[in-house]
Amino acid sequence: MLTQIINGHILTPQGWMKDGSVLISDGKILEITNSDLAVIGATVVDARGMYIVPGLVAMHVHGGGGSDFTEATPEAFRTAAKAHLAHGATTIFPTLSSSSFETLGQAVGVCQELMKEPDTTIMGLHIEGPYLNPKMAGELFANQTKAIDAAEYQALIEEANGCIKRWDISPEVEGGHDFARYMRSKGLMVALTHTEAEYDEIKAAYEAGFTHAAHFYNAMPGFHKRREYKYEGTVESVYLMDGMSVEVIADGRHLPSTILRLVYKLKGVERTCLVSDALAYAACEHPKVDPRFVIEDGVCKLADHSSLAGSLATMDKLVQTMVKAGVPFADAIRMASETPAKLIGVDDRKGTLQKGKDADILIFDRNLNLRAVWSMGVQVI
Ligand SMILES: [Zn+2]
Repeated sequence: MLTQIINGHILTPQGWMKDGSVLISDGKILEITNSDLAVIGATVVDARGMYIVPGLVAMHVHGGGGSDFTEATPEAFRTAAKAHLAHGATTIFPTLSSSSFETLGQAVGVCQELMKEPDTTIMGLHIEGPYLNPKMAGELFANQTKAIDAAEYQALIEEANGCIKRWDISPEVEGGHDFARYMRSKGLMVALTHTEAEYDEIKAAYEAGFTHAAHFYNAMPGFHKRREYKYEGTVESVYLMDGMSVEVIADGRHLPSTILRLVYKLKGVERTCLVSDALAYAACEHPKVDPRFVIEDGVCKLADHSSLAGSLATMDKLVQTMVKAGVPFADAIRMASETPAKLIGVDDRKGTLQKGKDADILIFDRNLNLRAVWSMGVQVI
């Protein structure tokens, strides 16, 4: 079956193409041409002058639609992935936060099964913790941190057989650098998170293989004073590592728009990803909220208001927030598609609108509301 999307502004790796068309066949992009002429035998979809952009890649997300990935069941995985797909996440890496190794093992099994399904949007797992600096773990993870055990993580990686794609820990925990070197040797992405490391430690961590900073600015210090002298924080240290990429929770709550613009300015499109870090309550109409939390101003907070607990954002919302902060729409899309796809290593199939790649395609209207979603050639919205 051949589908042709015509009459839109198409975001290609070379920039915007006006009045071209995208041809889809067998779940793949067959061609992107600058011609709007209808192809014989194709089902034509008129984009009515709207934006045609690549599907978005969610690489830090805890749940959605009322389900949390730590439930580690096929139902929970399906519900959350589907909830985010409706908001443009045509690729998703479920995040398992500070879980027991028993839960992680279970999640690996679920993920492996679901990845075998031809229409799945799940491309692998992302693990956050539990090897965290207890001081920086935050109230939620405080009781779930543990010391590194090489035999334990290596066994899980072996068992996962390629399904774990990314793992985040505090770089300063003992054995953290060996952890990073091991993960890199297996081709995994390693991110630093929940850390108070300063320049020398960040530099050493980067050299060991921590190439990405998770939820940049959150759960890490910036520039600060100790007694009479001033010190760079993790934030400034990460800025100084040219090759280190970052991700921002662009929900409009975790970071002010000035900081979103600053990250974009200093790290650029190719080193900045947009992530939701969303909880189960995201993309969920009537969430059953844990009594430890409250939902207010479109974000989840600890019930005592001492801190944010997680976002309710979806990928389309992140793009909208960046544009409101002053970032060009094309760049906001790239930070939510092309850049994460490259960093986590699925850019052979995902992340851009190019001949031969999966037909993961979105249409946004002129107000940047998501209007249509194709996942591997199948229109789901
Ligand atoms: Zn997270």
